[in-house]
Amino acid sequence: MSTDCIFCKIIEGQIPSKKVYEDDMVYAFHDISPAAPVHILLIPKKHISSAMELELADMEYVKQIHLAAQKIAKQLGIDEKGFRIVNNCGKDGGQTVSHLHYHLLGGRNLNWPPG
Ligand code: 5GP
Repeated sequence: MSTDCIFCKIIEGQIPSKKVYEDDMVYAFHDISPAAPVHILLIPKKHISSAMELELADMEYVKQIHLAAQKIAKQLGIDEKGFRIVNNCGKDGGQTVSHLHYHLLGGRNLNWPPG
C-alpha cells in the first residue's frame, strides 16, 4: 500500500470503483474514462510502480492478472470475439497512474497500431 497512490486507495475502498473481479492478488474495475465498450483495469494488490519495477518474485501477480483477464472476458462476453490487454509503461508509454495496471479492452474492433 502506497498512501499517495489512487489505485491503492481503490483497492482499500477509500476511493469508489465499479469492481468486476477480486481475489487475493488481483483487483479489477471499470476504467473511469472508457476507451472501448469494455474497458477494465486489472491491478496487483501489491503496490508496484510500473512494469519496469517488476521482479521475479512478483510474477505470480502477473500470472494471476492474466487468469483474471480470462475470467472477466468470459463474464463480460468478449472472450469469443477477442480483446486486447495493454500495459502502458512510463511517460512515453502513456502511463498516467504509477501503480502497475493492465487495460482489458474489447467490445469493438480495435485498431492497430495504437497511436
Ligand atoms: P494509464 O494511462 O496509466 O495507462 O491508465 C490509467 C487509467 O486509469 C486511465 O485509463 C484512466 O482513465 C484510469 N483512471 C484514472 N483515475 C481513475 C479512477 O479514479 N478510477 C477509475 N476507475 N479509473 C481511473
